[in-house]
Amino acid sequence: MKEKIETFMAEVRARNTYEPEFIQAVQEVAETVIPFISSQEIYNGKNILLRMIEPERVITFRISWVDDHGEIHVNRGYRIQMNSAIGPYKGGLRFHPTVNLSILKFLAFEQVFKNSLTTLPMGGGKGGSDFDPKGKSDAEIMRFCHNFMAELYRHIGSNTDVPAGDIGVGSREIGFLFGMYRKIRNEFTGVLTGKGLSWGGSLIRPEATGYGIVYFAENMLTTKKDSIKGKIISISGSGNVAQYAAEKVIQLGGKVVTISDSSGYIYDENGIDLEKLKYVMHLKNVVRGRINEYVKKYPSATFFEGETPWNTPCDIALPCATQNELNGKDAKALIKNGCICISEGANMPSTPEAIAEFHKAKILFAPGKASNAGGVATSGLEMTQNSLRYNWTRKEVDQKLQQIMSSIHASCLEYGMDDTGYVDYVKGANIAGFVKVADAMLAQGVI
Ligand code: GLU
Repeated sequence: MKEKIETFMAEVRARNTYEPEFIQAVQEVAETVIPFISSQEIYNGKNILLRMIEPERVITFRISWVDDHGEIHVNRGYRIQMNSAIGPYKGGLRFHPTVNLSILKFLAFEQVFKNSLTTLPMGGGKGGSDFDPKGKSDAEIMRFCHNFMAELYRHIGSNTDVPAGDIGVGSREIGFLFGMYRKIRNEFTGVLTGKGLSWGGSLIRPEATGYGIVYFAENMLTTKKDSIKGKIISISGSGNVAQYAAEKVIQLGGKVVTISDSSGYIYDENGIDLEKLKYVMHLKNVVRGRINEYVKKYPSATFFEGETPWNTPCDIALPCATQNELNGKDAKALIKNGCICISEGANMPSTPEAIAEFHKAKILFAPGKASNAGGVATSGLEMTQNSLRYNWTRKEVDQKLQQIMSSIHASCLEYGMDDTGYVDYVKGANIAGFVKVADAMLAQGVI
């Protein structure tokens, strides 16, 4: 089996030489899915995984825009349309200077499995730009978004491809993108999700990714007859996912002691309560300031410049910043300090070495494609409401989100539990995500 996986990976590496993140994401899937394929008559010998790792379409384009001082800039735009076997391409747009083909292909590939797990009919895609929103004025952001959509509009549509937010793309950016799409196409459709409530958005969509990872952690803890209540939680990141993960943890009686941004992390031994969280939301969403401001406002907290929070003792870790933010050394430190559960909020935040440590220690570990699927699932619910031209209540959407997270958890148990009762959530998520897409691809023939 090892040889089979290695032969497959050699081909992947040869074809995608300069794409380390994409290769990493494929390797994780190959290690769990290839043994499964070999054991199943219907999938064996059909080269399904080979077909799944090749995007159906990759679009790159130029975005020229003018800053507030009249200077002209050029950025690169992308949309990776990875797989549409079970529904229109669906996935976020990321605006960050690190964006490149490798990052977006890994995200699009993960999205295929994640979207399949949600139980909703969504294919997988991802897009974005190497544009850096940091320090840009609202007017510059607006001009950039308008110019981005002036090209992207040709490639998307409510039945074709439905983008949403990701790092650097929040409700402000979705507004500008939607405005330009509506103007060029002269139609009001659910072509983007994460929209404002008065123009087609869904209640709970902003909260959904963060709430979802906590619901997933609660599902995992229930298998050990345990819960979030009374637990110490370490969170990385301070964007949308981290903020609402913290809110749900606090509501469920846990104590959040860390949050971070790219400049470092803060440790608040007394816990970040709802009032302090409100301050963080204002700091990050309105003032757009740095996280060290927190210690000026709450001097009992400490700021650790340039560090990640994984050395602080906690019961549960929620990595909500970005890919590969938690390495093997961090994983060892978490385990040594008594961490029993990790629920990923970001996409692929744990390195393969870190995941190996979690599995070796047999603690609860949920990969992002399962635990952070609540965001895109609620995007799917936004699409449904747009099609119905109707809005569900907050309670209705939240209940559906909780049901979806429980169903994803059940799928992970179905395919990930071994003879001893230990659940490998990576294996479970990969195989469950694969089966639905593979069955659809088989049914539709070789195309
Ligand atoms: N960017 C989010 C993700 O990684 C959400 C995508 C969406 O809502 O389409 O799943």
